[in-house]
Amino acid sequence: MPDMFQFIADTSRHWELLEDLSGQVLYCSPSCLQLTGYEPEYFASRTGALETLAHPASHAALTSFLTELRQGPVHMQKSLELRIIAQDGAARWVVCHARRVVSPDGRMLLRATLRDIGRRKALDMELAQSRLTDPITGLYNRAWCMERLRRLMDRLGDHSGNTAENGTAQGEGFVVAVMDIDRLKKVNDTLGPAYGDEIIRMAAERIASTMATPDAACRIAGDGFALLFQDKSARAVIKHIKRLQALMSQPFDLRGHEVSITASAGIVTRPMPGDKPEDLLRNANIALRRAKANRHHRYKVFHSRMYEESARLMEVEIDLHSGLKNEEFFLVYQPIVCLETKDMTSLEALLRWNHPRRGLMRPDDFLPVAEATDFIVPLGEWVLRKACTDMVRIMAEHPELPELGMSVNISARQLAQHDIAEVVARVLHETGMDPTRLKLEITETVAMENPMLTAQRLHAIRAQGVKISIDDFGTGYSSLSSLQNFPIDTIKVDKSFVSQMDSSSEQRKIVRSVITLAHSLNLDVVAEGIELREQWSMLKVLDCQNGQGYLFSHPVDYNTLSDLLNEKRQ
Ligand code: C2E
Ligand code: CA
Ligand code: CA
Repeated sequence: MPDMFQFIADTSRHWELLEDLSGQVLYCSPSCLQLTGYEPEYFASRTGALETLAHPASHAALTSFLTELRQGPVHMQKSLELRIIAQDGAARWVVCHARRVVSPDGRMLLRATLRDIGRRKALDMELAQSRLTDPITGLYNRAWCMERLRRLMDRLGDHSGNTAENGTAQGEGFVVAVMDIDRLKKVNDTLGPAYGDEIIRMAAERIASTMATPDAACRIAGDGFALLFQDKSARAVIKHIKRLQALMSQPFDLRGHEVSITASAGIVTRPMPGDKPEDLLRNANIALRRAKANRHHRYKVFHSRMYEESARLMEVEIDLHSGLKNEEFFLVYQPIVCLETKDMTSLEALLRWNHPRRGLMRPDDFLPVAEATDFIVPLGEWVLRKACTDMVRIMAEHPELPELGMSVNISARQLAQHDIAEVVARVLHETGMDPTRLKLEITETVAMENPMLTAQRLHAIRAQGVKISIDDFGTGYSSLSSLQNFPIDTIKVDKSFVSQMDSSSEQRKIVRSVITLAHSLNLDVVAEGIELREQWSMLKVLDCQNGQGYLFSHPVDYNTLSDLLNEKRQ
């Protein structure tokens, strides 16, 4: 029978090993040849067979593993994954299952079974590698980026003992930049998403070509890259980013299509001890968004003021929603008058927000947020409906003012809605507003952004009898003739020209030529921002019919307007 057991052990696929507690080998199965390249005889009567085989990197782990087993209680068992060095010098991963056993003659022994796990380890490593790199670009992925940032932050913390006055560790600092491709959506929309991926891949290649270890490039989102720079000054990184932006703007050859892109960047030059990796990326992204908001600067360095500003905007965004529900918005009306007679010809509806904590807010403080988040769409519809409702009331109360009109401002996002004409029609219908008394004001810049589409939408709106006015004229550098394709009734001369009319002959000339051209195109002209009598008289001389400004009236709430209209009647 014992021979049978020996036979089983001898034919085992795994390496079976029996040692006494001093490490002397009592039995070694033949399969050790396959695993280690050594004949079983090599180990016979040897002490510490495993220790002699262990790879230096596994030495410490093996020693404590064996010590524990040799000193542990009876029947104790443990496993260890370790690397050994085979006879041909190759390192190999094995797993060692070992336990303390009592021999038939009552001796305490150690029985170990060793098995090759090289394949599994290789797969593990491949998987780990794939978990750290992005399949499309081959750059490091977000998980790797976060881990590296965490390590860099730890290093920063370790050196914070000898930090400089400004809180940055000398020589151990690092800089984080995020970069993304501007208008990638346009490529996706016009050429298809496969081309978008191709651009991302080619852009990644260009980024990688500029980076050298220990600096690293990672893809952290769709078209978002993070670049980590070590031991480089902020100045050097900015130079690097500028060079990279120049490189990015060189045309790509996309399967025969030549495509040009640009890239924007946000940079965090001074990570502060205590910042988390997420904080760093968030701050870099805040700076990036800033860079994108300003077309002339395509990179921005993060400053803590930006964080406060963006936190404020985020708060505003949240409050906008509850504001509409809680009826915190209201409209004020500013009269537009006939410059000859000072009679009111129409009203402009202007939005105000009675914020529960911040108090009265002007549109400039919250409209940019509403625009950026599309909240302007429901908010703008509310404005239109409210202005029409109020106007219908005024029409009923003041039949003596059959010509009085109402102007409502329409934003770019509203005009971008495919159903804007239907929305206008619906509001007119539901409120009973006379379409010919309604005028929509669109700024020149909005109109010129997408002239074809704008013209189309405006035609559909004007077909209902509604009038169209071009607001802030003169600020967008478009010529009046370029507006010829738009169905418009009125031009509003921007207040920046009006306010300088009395002091600058240059501005006066601009106003004059706008008025002359408008008349030749049969358009009405309204001058906005009239504050001084001089401006008023000059405008009259220039034959401008209508004007608006503090000289005549500030914007007023509905009740004040009502009183004003009643006074006029008496
Ligand atoms: P805007 O359309 O050019 O409106 C005229 C702005 O000039 C108003 O500022 C008005 O109060 C101000 N103003 C009027 N007379 C004078 C004057 O004599 N001197 C000076 N310095 N300013 C004068 P407000 O109400 O702060 O509105 C700012 C901008 O916000 C508006 O400029 C308009 O673009 C936008 N806005 C206001 N309400 C709405 C709205 O309901 N929807 C949309 N989309 N935009 C709106
Ligand atoms: Ca306006
Ligand atoms: Ca204006």
